[in-house]
Amino acid sequence: MSDTIFSKIIRREIPADIVYENDEVLAFRDLNPQAPVHVLFIPKRALATLNDATEADATLLGKLLLAAAEYAKQQGLAEQGYRTVLNCNEDGGQTVFHLHLHLLAGRRLHWPPG
Ligand code: 5GP
Repeated sequence: MSDTIFSKIIRREIPADIVYENDEVLAFRDLNPQAPVHVLFIPKRALATLNDATEADATLLGKLLLAAAEYAKQQGLAEQGYRTVLNCNEDGGQTVFHLHLHLLAGRRLHWPPG
């Protein structure tokens, strides 16, 4: 897959407000937050979209979700609640083609989304 802005963030070539990191996952605040807490969790091993994931990526995808849950607990967000979102391709609203999980929290989120 081609290089994206998120690969540059992983390589520390452009700045980001990094809030969480482990061996396989990096998380940083969204530049254009849609909630008081809006953090993006990305795998360091890049996949463009969820469509590109295979069985071999199952553990990595699980680790993205677990990282988001761990962060939410660390930040005291878990009990009140939060939302995770993974947008795929055009109709899903994906704009950066390095798979990422949004974590939104800090306000009441409406459902269904628009
Ligand atoms: P998508 O629409 O692909 O699901 O989400 C991409 C997200 O990345 C958007 O919410 C957008 O605000 C965020 N974003 C785009 N470029 C940057 C950047 O350079 N830095 C950060 N921190 N977030 C970005």
